[in-house]
Amino acid sequence: MANKIREAIHQNDTLKEVCSARKPKVRIPHIIIYDVEKREEGVTREIEEQTLIEKIRKSNSLPPGETKVLFRKKGRGNREHWVVEIAPKIFAQIKNDNRLQCGFGSYRFKEYIEPMRCFKCHRLGHGKATCVQEQELCSKCPGVHSFKTCKNAAPVCRNCREYNRANNQKVRVDHVATSDKCPVFLRVGWLFGV
Ligand SMILES: [Zn+2]
Ligand SMILES: [Zn+2]
Ligand SMILES: [Zn+2]
Repeated sequence: MANKIREAIHQNDTLKEVCSARKPKVRIPHIIIYDVEKREEGVTREIEEQTLIEKIRKSNSLPPGETKVLFRKKGRGNREHWVVEIAPKIFAQIKNDNRLQCGFGSYRFKEYIEPMRCFKCHRLGHGKATCVQEQELCSKCPGVHSFKTCKNAAPVCRNCREYNRANNQKVRVDHVATSDKCPVFLRVGWLFGV
């Protein structure tokens, strides 16, 4: 009898582990706001972003919550498109709209979806199941080995390093390739879905 109980408790614990392991990671929604006019000179980027976000928040009566401009991309003429990370409860309120009021005007926007990422080779645009890479590549450095055997102390993102080499750019590389803050991961969305 005691054995049975112990077994039942054990099974319950195992089940709990399985359930918690399968809990999906909460995705932070991103939106892209199109055609934001550049502001006057002399205002810092931070102030400029805070001012516009606050104006949008007030004009649309959005609930409080974290809002952060991730990056800005040049648009036509004097305009830029802004990719903004927003709290899920703010997104829930605007997800069925396609314009955000801003004072007397408004901006077109839509959800910004990041590309699929492969957890075997860490390239973007496909998943592990359809990966053609034979050997697992490291997510911590550009080496050909599993991240589990990586001996590099400081991370170097293979995708950002490759991007810099191919485009003569200098985006940050000091993060793992699986990072949600990886600049190439965030920007490659331009090629897919935008
Ligand atoms: Zn792959
Ligand atoms: Zn490595
Ligand atoms: Zn990166």
